[in-house]
Amino acid sequence: MDLSKKEFIESIKNRNIGETEFLQAVSEVAETIIPYVKENPKYRNTKILERIAEPERVIIFRVPWLNDKGEVEVNRGFRVQMNSSIGPYKGGLRFHKSVNLSVLKFLAFEQIFKNSLTGLPMGAGKGGSDFDPKGKSDNEVMKFCQSFMTELYRHVGADIDIPAGDIGVGNREIGYLFGQYKRIKGEFTGVLTGKGSEWGGSQIRPEATGYGLIYFVEEILKLKKESLKHKKIVISGAGNVAQFAAEKCIELGAQVLTMSDSDGYIYDAEGITIEKLNFIKKLKNQNRGRIQEYANEYNCAFVEGKKPWEIACDIALPNATQNELNEADAKVLVKNGCYCIAEGANMPCTPEAIAVFNQNKVFYAPGKAANAGGVAVSGLEMSQNSLRYTWSREKVDKKLKGIMKDIHKVCVKYGKEENGFINYEKGANIGGFVKIAEAMLAQGLV
Ligand code: NAP
Repeated sequence: MDLSKKEFIESIKNRNIGETEFLQAVSEVAETIIPYVKENPKYRNTKILERIAEPERVIIFRVPWLNDKGEVEVNRGFRVQMNSSIGPYKGGLRFHKSVNLSVLKFLAFEQIFKNSLTGLPMGAGKGGSDFDPKGKSDNEVMKFCQSFMTELYRHVGADIDIPAGDIGVGNREIGYLFGQYKRIKGEFTGVLTGKGSEWGGSQIRPEATGYGLIYFVEEILKLKKESLKHKKIVISGAGNVAQFAAEKCIELGAQVLTMSDSDGYIYDAEGITIEKLNFIKKLKNQNRGRIQEYANEYNCAFVEGKKPWEIACDIALPNATQNELNEADAKVLVKNGCYCIAEGANMPCTPEAIAVFNQNKVFYAPGKAANAGGVAVSGLEMSQNSLRYTWSREKVDKKLKGIMKDIHKVCVKYGKEENGFINYEKGANIGGFVKIAEAMLAQGLV
């Protein structure tokens, strides 16, 4: 049996009609995994890659709820249970108007490799809804979350499937979802992660994805015997990942020049300070306002409708959403001297952009490695819930740093090329794949 890349991609395309994001994610992995599978007959003959690209189960459900005017609204809910070979399904919930099956399958597929790379016993899943919390009252968000969980509860559980947050699902939404699960099941268990620290959440979970991203960047810079001090950083997004990535950069002496939301980006040439970042946190997490208000407050530029990639920098951190950095953006970044791109978001760089980075020997750290810190600390939250115990901030942060260092080592192990260049994409794909493939082989035809 010989696996040709072209035939494999063609079969994925035909089986998943119109699912462009899913096809993009699978194609990116196939690029580096198929040559590896070909060299290893035990994987080739058992169709491991074909099996990994097929979800174990997909649940789609109706979510009816009443808005503040007393009118009926109907949304669609999803949970993609992708792979349980190394642990219960684990992955976030996304509430955004762009959510559809393709987006969630791409995220669940990426999650397989990411969770495997953390070294923790977590399978992969992803879910969410086309519900958009933007502009909704707290009461409406609560009603939606309660209706969503009224169906989801029968498919999840502390040893079955443990969702967490993602775009549009933060502390508030996790609270409402957890409350409803507890009312229906009558049990207080670690069924969700990202919980408040007073009710079963882990220290450092809010910070984990952003901090972990920067710990990973530190490992990359160490290869050049450099640190983050005085580095110019361009960040997209102003949500959970962007906020804590910015915080760690500032703490380590780097200069954060930009942040953004879907309206545009702010450019603060003097650098965002911790005090200014606190303004953004309050603006986004409490007032649910727009990033433009930062420009009004601190008298700096707001560039409407654009992405921040045109600003010269050493390091770029796409932290908003998928396909937010394209080939033209990549060329501008490289021309302006950017030599490291690390993805806080999932699949923010298009395949054409990644090709530009590789051609120019720019360090490119894919999300499945660089943003794995969030799910890693979610895994630590599960451990603490099982132990009925809480670890200190320092302890969790130290564990997070250790995990990010280990992921970096795995990427170097599998991604180092003959000329010494480290292909992080290849390293993360193969490093994540091997553990899953071995587990699936050991478990029979699963
Ligand atoms: P979040 O708190 O909801 O923030 C998302 C940010 O991205 C907001 O600033 C949002 O702006 C912007 N954004 C979203 N969709 C956009 C679009 N279509 N165009 C432009 N900007 C857009 O979400 P998050 O948790 O930070 O997640 C950001 C990314 O990180 C996602 O790709 C997510 O999958 C990934 N990630 C998150 C975690 C985690 O622990 N949270 C872990 C791993 C990976 P608006 O407010 O204007 O929409």
